[in-house]
Amino acid sequence: MVDTAKEDTPGGDVHGGGVTGLREPEEDWAHRDRWEPGAHRSVGTGLTEIDGNRAHRARLGISQSPARNGVLLVVKALCFDETLKLETHRPDPEVGEGEVLVSVRLAGICATDLEIAKGYMGFRGVLGHEFVGTVLRGPRRWQGRRVVSEINCVCGRCEMCHRGLSNHCRRRTVIGIDGRDGAFAERIAVPERNLHGVPDALRDEQAVFVEPLAAAFQVIRQSPIEKRMRVSVVGSGRLGLLVAQVLQTTGCDLEVIGRNEMTLNFCERRGIRTTPLSEVRPRADKDVVVECSGSPDGLALAMRLLRPRGRIVLKSTYAGGAAVDLAPVVIHEFDVVGSRCGPFLDAINALACGQVDVESLISRQIPLDRGVEAFAMAADPRYIKILLKVNP
Ligand SMILES: [Zn+2]
Ligand SMILES: [Zn+2]
Repeated sequence: MVDTAKEDTPGGDVHGGGVTGLREPEEDWAHRDRWEPGAHRSVGTGLTEIDGNRAHRARLGISQSPARNGVLLVVKALCFDETLKLETHRPDPEVGEGEVLVSVRLAGICATDLEIAKGYMGFRGVLGHEFVGTVLRGPRRWQGRRVVSEINCVCGRCEMCHRGLSNHCRRRTVIGIDGRDGAFAERIAVPERNLHGVPDALRDEQAVFVEPLAAAFQVIRQSPIEKRMRVSVVGSGRLGLLVAQVLQTTGCDLEVIGRNEMTLNFCERRGIRTTPLSEVRPRADKDVVVECSGSPDGLALAMRLLRPRGRIVLKSTYAGGAAVDLAPVVIHEFDVVGSRCGPFLDAINALACGQVDVESLISRQIPLDRGVEAFAMAADPRYIKILLKVNP
């Protein structure tokens, strides 16, 4: 006789691993022998709990339950899998060895997220890598602390890690970008080594910018800028505005080129000279051009702005899709430098001493529940930065 109830009993072995293979020693699933569909309830902390058993975990696609006290926790999360959608019962993140569980407070949507949501990077899972949160579970020194997290999760053992280039770890995963769930969720597991404490003086609305601002600081880490240098930033979007403010701290002769009047006005208010794209007359006299437009046209313009032996810094991860004529690089012997993640401490310090204004870039703060709508807004040039309010 077929046991039709089998799937919903603790004995139901959907993954074929046997009961002992799935059971966690600290839990006693045998006492939770029934799962009733829809038996969700909220607990005081704002967490959602489900009376769970293994079969239910199997339905959710997990073999190792992140359950606590025999209760299966789930999170709301903005996920990409063919399409972008809000999942309301995603399993709580598994916290691996050396990792902490963070309650996400506020998260930022950036161009990389928009690209991933178009399917360009082949990522499946929870999106989001710019966030500030509070440590829920982890070593005592972190518990309850407000933190930001570096996004590269590294092995610490490969030759890149040994060379001090762990952002290029051969075995890295990247939060919300490559092989690891991201921060557009109520909770996220991140390696403890990735954490940085947020000073009390910084508001969440500032701290949420630490990751992209660190990426902006990477420009001057890789290419020291002196006061006498002529520098252009091509592109006045979210990233361009951060890069411009970082360059401004060097006192160089700076200009931002863009097509968005609103963002150019922001620069002017900050004392940064701007040129609307339509009025640019390239004179091949710039020492450094930072390409932040993410378009092949931006790169072509950068090459026309630059003096011979000048340096182009590429900040956009998605400029490479179209064919670009690289002959000028050879003819004029340009330096071309790719630039990605950067130093978190520089970003935290710059925010703490008010060197960089990020809060004026915030156009809207949208609840996670309306995440799909928030993505549409982030892609709309009438808005600059869209933040997701997760656990305010
Ligand atoms: Zn980003
Ligand atoms: Zn490594």
